[in-house]
Amino acid sequence: MSGQPAGPRVVRAPRGTQLNALGWPQEAALRMLRNNLDPEVAEHPDQLVVYGGTGRAARDWPSFDAMMRTLETLRQDETMLVQSGRPVGVLRTHEWAPRVLLANSNLVGDWANWEEFRRLEALGLTMYGQMTAGSWIYIGTQGILQGTYETFAAVAAKRFAGSLAGTITLTAGLGGMGGAQPLAVTMNDGVALCVECDPSRIRRRIEHGYLDRAADSLEHGLRLATEARDARRPLSVGVPGNAAELLPRLLEMGAPIDIVTDQTSAHDPLAYLPVGVDFDEMAERAATDPGGFTRRAQESMAQHVEAMVGFQDEGAEVFDYGNSIRGEARTAGYPRAFDFPGFVPAYIRPLFCEGKGPFRWAALSGDPKDIAVTDRALLELFPENESLARWLRMAGERVHFQGLPARICWLGYGERDKAGERFNELVASGEISAPLALGRDHLDCGSVASPYRETEAMKDGSDAIADWPLLNAMVNVSSGASWVSVHHGGGVGMGRSLHAGQVTVADGTALAGEKLRRVLTNDPGTGVIRHVDAGYERADEVAAERGVRVPMREG
Ligand code: NAD
Repeated sequence: MSGQPAGPRVVRAPRGTQLNALGWPQEAALRMLRNNLDPEVAEHPDQLVVYGGTGRAARDWPSFDAMMRTLETLRQDETMLVQSGRPVGVLRTHEWAPRVLLANSNLVGDWANWEEFRRLEALGLTMYGQMTAGSWIYIGTQGILQGTYETFAAVAAKRFAGSLAGTITLTAGLGGMGGAQPLAVTMNDGVALCVECDPSRIRRRIEHGYLDRAADSLEHGLRLATEARDARRPLSVGVPGNAAELLPRLLEMGAPIDIVTDQTSAHDPLAYLPVGVDFDEMAERAATDPGGFTRRAQESMAQHVEAMVGFQDEGAEVFDYGNSIRGEARTAGYPRAFDFPGFVPAYIRPLFCEGKGPFRWAALSGDPKDIAVTDRALLELFPENESLARWLRMAGERVHFQGLPARICWLGYGERDKAGERFNELVASGEISAPLALGRDHLDCGSVASPYRETEAMKDGSDAIADWPLLNAMVNVSSGASWVSVHHGGGVGMGRSLHAGQVTVADGTALAGEKLRRVLTNDPGTGVIRHVDAGYERADEVAAERGVRVPMREG
């Protein structure tokens, strides 16, 4: 696999059971890094950009090649160190240690802003790792689909008697993550109107089955949406244009919108299209005048957020979907930016108290049948869990795999370890044809400090305490994970988050079984502990029921 050209090229993960590396954990890292850059998976693979604005899998192509060479020869008692997408060393460790340790985009507090980051990036010293881009466990738009589906289900439960039928959701951004919104809304029987300034993203979501239709204009989109709403028929419509212009127009028109959110790349002002700039000129304008572009983008975000607040004033359910758009609007001087809540305190925190979060796995064989076996295994393991069964049925029918077949499933403390051990047995028995890589998003219960998102409005005010993701990473290193990552700035941008990730490989060996049991218990365990510490009663109950030890509750 080595000896390839130095520049951009088409990359895919190898499939099947033949090893290119000296063991499955190393092979899994090699395949998952390549999979992140598969054109089916990555948004802009030629630039090594996977998703989320400029979230990269490797710093540059020479670094990518060096990581490939190293993973091919890395021994079972060695660990490769990756500093912001570039392999910087190989150290002798031991069999239980991770094969790869990654630190991406981290900056010292006073320097943790976009301006300094970009200066260092231009010098070739760092890269933006987002969450699962730089930690090699991105699985395409499915990765956010279940969380988005559950979020819209929670909105339906709160405001619309349990179903989005007969409602219109207005949102923007159909990128790698944002592209999940239309399918999540239609899975809840609603209508989605999605504004997107890049026509190629609208086409891509239609090709991948996440979006139903493209409208020619705003008026056309609104007509399609209201007809479907009146017929209580699920439908998703992509509308070309700039959200900062079209949301205020829809508000003025008195459009009958029930729910409003947003997933443009607002966390990075250079990835948000300002009003008055043509999409085709966006990259060049951002590169030649980053300061001026940032100001204009922030002003546009203020208009965009003002319209969202306007819809809330009219009675719509409005929430921030984790892209920091409220923070940017406030920076631009809009005083009511935080009038609507973030989605975590509004809908997700009760799940975090149970150690639930976006657990996922990929079939390294490349065979979709292996995922079907895991789906069935979960239904057998958790027969009483109806919402899990409903999700697995819909995912089986409606999710098109991107790259290596994969599945996301929000499992909690006491569930993930059972799933991992069962999967390992199925690999050992040959019912699953090759090993699985089991990991999760950094947006998890115990792995992130992010005051505009995952830790917004914590009960004890501990939103910005960043010890938790560091403890989480150390726990995973100590428990046998195959690779562990510590990142800064993912989701919400520089200076606004610290977060950690882990991936552990089920290769059917007894050793993998032991590691999976520990990692998949301890990793969500840090989430339960974090929420007990912050004073959440549900987390207290979960800790007591499921035997999570918390010293301050003992004695
Ligand atoms: P992306 O870069 O792949 O897509 C963003 C899209 O927004 C692009 O297609 C872009 O063309 C479009 N866009 C930019 N400015 C626009 C404007 N003014 N009007 C209309 N469209 C515009 O990013 P992504 O991976 O889809 O992530 C979107 C955002 O969500 C990011 O800020 C990311 O950090 C955040 N995020 C949230 C979660 C969550 O759980 N809620 C998870 C991951 C990422």
